[in-house]
Amino acid sequence: MAEDNNALLAQILAAVSQIQSDNKALAASVDAINGRVNALADVKKLKDAARPDTARVSAPPAAAAAPLADLSPAAETSAEIKEEEPSKRPTTSRIILTTYPGQSGIDPIIMNWGHKDPMQRGPVVVSRAGSTVRRRNAIGAHGGSYSIYHALAVAINELKVDHKPDYTNTEPAAPLGPFPQWSDPKKIVAMDPLGHLAPWLYKDYIGKEDVEIRPTIAITKAHMKLPELEQSVREGRLKVDGKICLNESGELAVTKFAVEPVWYLPGVAERFGIDEGTLRRSLFENTGGSFPELITRGDIKLFLPPIGGLTVYCFGDVAKMSDPNVKLALRVHDECNGSDVFGSDICTCRPYLIFGIEEAVKEAQKGGSGVVVYFRKEGRALGEVTKYLVYNARKRGVDKASDYFMRTENIAGVKDMRFQALMPDVLHWLGITKIDRMLSMSNMKHDAIVGQGIPIHERIPIPDELIPADSRVEIDAKIHAGYFTTGKVMTMEELSAVQGRAWDDVDH
Ligand SMILES: [Zn+2]
Repeated sequence: MAEDNNALLAQILAAVSQIQSDNKALAASVDAINGRVNALADVKKLKDAARPDTARVSAPPAAAAAPLADLSPAAETSAEIKEEEPSKRPTTSRIILTTYPGQSGIDPIIMNWGHKDPMQRGPVVVSRAGSTVRRRNAIGAHGGSYSIYHALAVAINELKVDHKPDYTNTEPAAPLGPFPQWSDPKKIVAMDPLGHLAPWLYKDYIGKEDVEIRPTIAITKAHMKLPELEQSVREGRLKVDGKICLNESGELAVTKFAVEPVWYLPGVAERFGIDEGTLRRSLFENTGGSFPELITRGDIKLFLPPIGGLTVYCFGDVAKMSDPNVKLALRVHDECNGSDVFGSDICTCRPYLIFGIEEAVKEAQKGGSGVVVYFRKEGRALGEVTKYLVYNARKRGVDKASDYFMRTENIAGVKDMRFQALMPDVLHWLGITKIDRMLSMSNMKHDAIVGQGIPIHERIPIPDELIPADSRVEIDAKIHAGYFTTGKVMTMEELSAVQGRAWDDVDH
């Protein structure tokens, strides 16, 4: 009898496990179909939104704009670029040092930055591979700083230069837009607003003309777990709702957007109040002459710079980010690996980031939207080496808040290279038109956002109890320099009394 029962039980368990795996397969298929439907729907929405405009289609820009700088081209570099079949070899036979507008074989794909109709706007084409090189309408390379690892992979033959990416099931995990901001060439100049849809929007170029077109944005969904948020739940600050805050361990459901930079050079220059030629010349000179086309191809207006991008963490319904009728809480955070990941106590970065996430989640739970944007601008975009040199200079002297910025300026020549002017682009892209609760004290971020026509209704400083003792130097110096506070701004004399821990305590 017991044996019969066991056999029956085994059968039932096997059946249940079969049903479970069938369900999983079914859910995966449904999810894959959803992805494709979302991408198709987004592509259709874009095309529909563009329709009334297509009557006044403008012609592609004339190819022969003059080079911007007075650098005479070396004759041997102006090799003719032949129209040829995609090469099967790892590299083309001839090194093309640079190209010129009007050069034989050069035929850039249309690029009308900001045009409402994606077909008239054109895809971002930057690859130098096979049949794409003569069709390029952008300088630089995909992947930001990772383009160098890509180069290494090709050099050591780990990666075929003519590898064709298979984008099956990689479609955005949530729909977004289109928003009017996407076709405003003044509002978005530092990313491609169509970057998440590129392979689907421009599949004909890929399929019929063998042009390499890659997404510069990807949208996915995930769960995330932070020990501080488990404590928030335990202490009753954060409520478990099963949707955004999933359980007692503070696990969060999030939609994430990864964005690589794409610069529209005239727009970037305008944002900084300089002329395009000056920008191009400086980018060329200060990257070791890496991108000669910045000088020789005045007709190409796009540059994919070798820098880090950004990630958007959206809590709650993605559509609510752009809904003017619900509240939006936002933190714009610049990377600080030492604090964000490794818990260094010399600055307020991780505590403010965590506070931003918690407040974003609360806003989403109240029916609004909560967003954290994370920029790869390590150490005020000066990098970790400079940052550590500054730490040394601070700790070997007397680490006074009054000297805080001077230490950085002595070493780097500037106190900050994050230059927030391009930062608001991502907010425009997300469809954000106002910020109800800005979880940042930075006057530079505030001014950049408001300057871009996005009002900020309330600014929320980091609560005092979250500030590590040793980081008082940083936060008080920043407040003195103009950071927002609801507390008092110290005098220079008071500031010199705020001192960080000396090194000795750390060494023992
Ligand atoms: Zn930091």
